Amino acid sequence: KPLVFSGVQPTGNLHLGNYLGAIKKFVALQDTSDCIYCVVDLHSLTAQLVHDDLRDQTRSITAAFLASGIDPKKHIVFNQSRVMQHAELAWIFNCVARIGWMNRMTQFKDKAGKDRENASLGLLAYPSLMAADILVYRATHVPVGDDQKQHLELTRDIAQKFNNDFSDRIAGLGVGVEMKVGEETVNGYFPLTEPIIGGPAARIMSLRDGSKKMSKSDPSDLSRINLTDDADTISKKIRKAKTDPEALPGELDGLAGRPEAENLVGIYAGLAEISKEAVLKEFGGQQFSVFKPALADLAVEKLAPVAIEMRRISDDRAFVDAVLRDGGERAGALAEATMKTVRDIIGLLQS
Ligand code: ATP
Ligand code: MG
Repeated sequence: KPLVFSGVQPTGNLHLGNYLGAIKKFVALQDTSDCIYCVVDLHSLTAQLVHDDLRDQTRSITAAFLASGIDPKKHIVFNQSRVMQHAELAWIFNCVARIGWMNRMTQFKDKAGKDRENASLGLLAYPSLMAADILVYRATHVPVGDDQKQHLELTRDIAQKFNNDFSDRIAGLGVGVEMKVGEETVNGYFPLTEPIIGGPAARIMSLRDGSKKMSKSDPSDLSRINLTDDADTISKKIRKAKTDPEALPGELDGLAGRPEAENLVGIYAGLAEISKEAVLKEFGGQQFSVFKPALADLAVEKLAPVAIEMRRISDDRAFVDAVLRDGGERAGALAEATMKTVRDIIGLLQS
């Protein structure tokens, strides 16, 4: 059975990009896989160390997971900082990965901005902690938005270098599994994890700027539709979304060079669970004055029930905390089993 891991940072309001690009996929994978879904609170310290309400943000993301249909009994839901093995493995991966690899990450470049020397060391090492999150469970699949593709490639690079650097010890301890790397069959401890990316909503863009992805940490609230926005706010944000003056085309080619139009079509497709082609079949030739209200109605219809359920669950703090505690205990046992082996492979003295 595939083992799925993914995480969401408690950095602000969950938006449509998180929901369509990640959380909806988390929900869908539950039938076929064992899933571990994590609120990655340690990651949220990389960009901003001091948060006013980190605990409530953590609870709110948890509530969104549960409201969307993630089952914390069949699967595991917890917050990252409860399982210290993530940080332990991240340290080891810091010593496996190269500085040059981290410097090439586009998320680091975007988030560090111009004053890169002054970014936190944690922001640079972010992908190393992310690799540890995944590999401490030896997860085989990770559902993410398109923006995380590069970090997943780096996760594979780290796994491969670890397997390679310690190949003799892994073989000596008999803890490896056979895996294909290109043409070669090698014996490795960490799997080469596959990303699950795709569909019409793998990269939802900002409503204000078709060249920037929709983000929790974007200062402009008009740039995103939050899961918790009410119907009026959703309609207003879609009405104000940047577009061009042309009507929608009938074919996909007609969206080339029109990022804002393509984005709204992608959002519609993601919400309706149809292809972009199907959306254009329905709305081709129509003006945005027709398409935008239809999109707003659809967004309200799909998001309102999640928001209501999320609020209901959030109100019961004791319940949310108990879910995270229980998930943390189960995750911790799995992570410790991996770390025992990793410490043996490296040769750390434990006795
Ligand atoms: P931040 O700006 O703080 O990084 P974020 O919106 O990028 O916040 P994350 O917690 O970093 O949210 O990401 C959670 C998941 O949502 C990841 O799988 C990520 O790939 C996905 N995701 C984030 N933004 C988008 C987007 N605009 N479109 C599709 N998926 C997205
Ligand atoms: Mg992000």
